[in-house]
Amino acid sequence: MTDAHAPEAQAAVVDGVHHHQFDIVIIGAGGAGMRAAIAAAEEAQGTSVSVGVITKLYPTRSHTGAAQGGMAAALANVEEDNAEWHTYDTIKGGDYLVDQDAAQILAKEAIDAVIDLENMGLPFNRTPEGKIDQRRFGGHTRDHGKAPVRRACYAADRTGHMILQTLFQNCVKLGVNFFNEYYALDLLYTEGKVSGVVAYELASGQLHVFQAKAVIFATGGFGKMFKTTSNAHTLTGDGVGMIWRRGLPLEDMEFFQFHPTGLAGLGILLTEGARGEGAILRNASGERFMERYAPTIKDLAPRDIVARCMVQEVREGRGAGPNKDYVLLDCTHLGAEVLETKLPDITEFARLYLGIDPVVEPVPVMPTAHYAMGGIPTNTDAEVLLDNTTPVPGLYAAGECACVSVHGSNRLGTNSLLDINVFGKRAGQNAVAYVQGVDFTPLPDDPAKGVRTLVEQVRGASGSESIATLRKTLQENMDDKAQVYRTADSLREMLHIIHDLRQRYKNIGIHDRGSRFNTDLLEAIELGFLLDLAEVVVYSAMNREESRGGHMREDFQKRDDENWMKHTMAYLTGDATSPDPEDHIKLDYKPVVFVKGDDGELLYPPMERKY
Ligand SMILES: Cc1cc2nc3c(=O)[nH]c(=O)nc-3n(C[C@H](O)[C@H](O)[C@H](O)COP(=O)(O)OP(=O)(O)OC[C@H]3O[C@@H](n4cnc5c(N)ncnc54)[C@H](O)[C@@H]3O)c2cc1C
Repeated sequence: MTDAHAPEAQAAVVDGVHHHQFDIVIIGAGGAGMRAAIAAAEEAQGTSVSVGVITKLYPTRSHTGAAQGGMAAALANVEEDNAEWHTYDTIKGGDYLVDQDAAQILAKEAIDAVIDLENMGLPFNRTPEGKIDQRRFGGHTRDHGKAPVRRACYAADRTGHMILQTLFQNCVKLGVNFFNEYYALDLLYTEGKVSGVVAYELASGQLHVFQAKAVIFATGGFGKMFKTTSNAHTLTGDGVGMIWRRGLPLEDMEFFQFHPTGLAGLGILLTEGARGEGAILRNASGERFMERYAPTIKDLAPRDIVARCMVQEVREGRGAGPNKDYVLLDCTHLGAEVLETKLPDITEFARLYLGIDPVVEPVPVMPTAHYAMGGIPTNTDAEVLLDNTTPVPGLYAAGECACVSVHGSNRLGTNSLLDINVFGKRAGQNAVAYVQGVDFTPLPDDPAKGVRTLVEQVRGASGSESIATLRKTLQENMDDKAQVYRTADSLREMLHIIHDLRQRYKNIGIHDRGSRFNTDLLEAIELGFLLDLAEVVVYSAMNREESRGGHMREDFQKRDDENWMKHTMAYLTGDATSPDPEDHIKLDYKPVVFVKGDDGELLYPPMERKY
């Protein structure tokens, strides 16, 4: 039932292009996409609503499967906890740029999200009495910051793997139609109306048009614009790029998270769950430096703070190693049993990639580009917005590609696996309700035209520039100029580099001219998306003259609530290859949502962030 040719209302070939029709098309089969598919399939039972999932990766290869440490929910299984504390931590962790109504939903629906997964068969770690076990994670605290709390549900350090497998099995059970190794490359969107998606089939090079009443974007992040990253090679922001090219806005793109503990020089992630289990960050002299910066929760401060402190230690000459360019994650006191049973994968990563055994030696670590807080703006029903408030009928987004915004300017660890489940489910359910009341929007003439032109141009490209070189130049410079610390000068330089790369991109050469598994062609197209998005990230970052969450400006070191307590909304308004971004990107703003109590007072007023 799960093969791509399962019953469809209409599947035909017109002028060499395959035509399909589904009420709902989901792009992406990671955690968000598959959670949406399950919700939609369940909600659609007994109706004629059909659901198709297009995914460039085989579903179980999606990046969700690499997630390690856990999924937050205030189950209070091992100590006192509640959803209100979780809401507070999420808002404070996000440096108050979080939309507070969305954070309340996230924390409240977390409990059911975990229980849903348990009922679907997910093998969580257990307490001796058989309840789901919970561990500590950065920024999650008891009673508004008093001490760390055990809130992260986990399955060893393979939580994402277990979530992805569980969701996939349930999709199979429900007969969801998957189109595996199909690259969505265009959203059919005219005059505020969605009519479908155009995709490229990797195995054959053929084009497919999917007519749909509703489209859900669940395409994940875009960490591959950086060199040092925990992200998989496939995280090139295609979905976010498609939305951008259609003139729809992107929100808060300047906020990118740099996770403190990437393996030094490599960026491969060591989960924060290690510090949750008690591991300690030390500088060259063995000092537990986080005690100086965050005296209450120390190594378990939120990621933006820990990453900055690490870079500061190195800059001030207290880094470890021959070049003093990293700090150390000390797990040695945890003992072999904890490492082998609760953190087996990362223990193995350190041994395999650095030849260091965490049981007996501290591991060299430095921040690694990890998570996009910004993305496709949505409301709490997962509907995509075309301006600050107006949803596009039938268009949804969930997961890392979306910006609800529950993470504000800095996501707390374990809140993403939660986000994909809560808002993935909402997207699926709401799409089913929507499609039952509407007809299909007619397709434009020759709907595959744009993608055909793009593919033919790239396939025939015979210039002298290599994709690998351009990508490497982008990534190295992003690490150098737009990472943990930024200045107006570094960002301006980066914009020039991006413009130069775009010019060179016009002169690329492709070696493979074939139609089967042409990965050369797709890497070139993916680089196009990365360049578009890198420009939005850097331009938005240059514009925001303050420091908040993951965005640290050395030339504006303070958070400035008076001028900058607002989301950035970026729009593509002209020719992306024009030299000055001002000529093709318009920046606008959207107010942050605050919630009030019965007495009319703000429940979570912005405060100085102390830990
Ligand atoms: C190493 C690592 C560890 C992490 N650990 C944790 C953790 O412990 N806890 C936590 O909360 N978060 C963690 N995160 C973050 C979290 O895993 C991700 O943010 C989340 O899983 C993203 O899920 P997603 O469904 O949005 O996207 P993904 O899982 O990345 O899935 C994206 C999907 O989109 C599809 N796709 C993309 N482009 C196209 C296209 N053009 N056409 C068709 N399909 C497309 C892909 O095939 C894929 O199926 C971690 C992340 C990493 C990288």
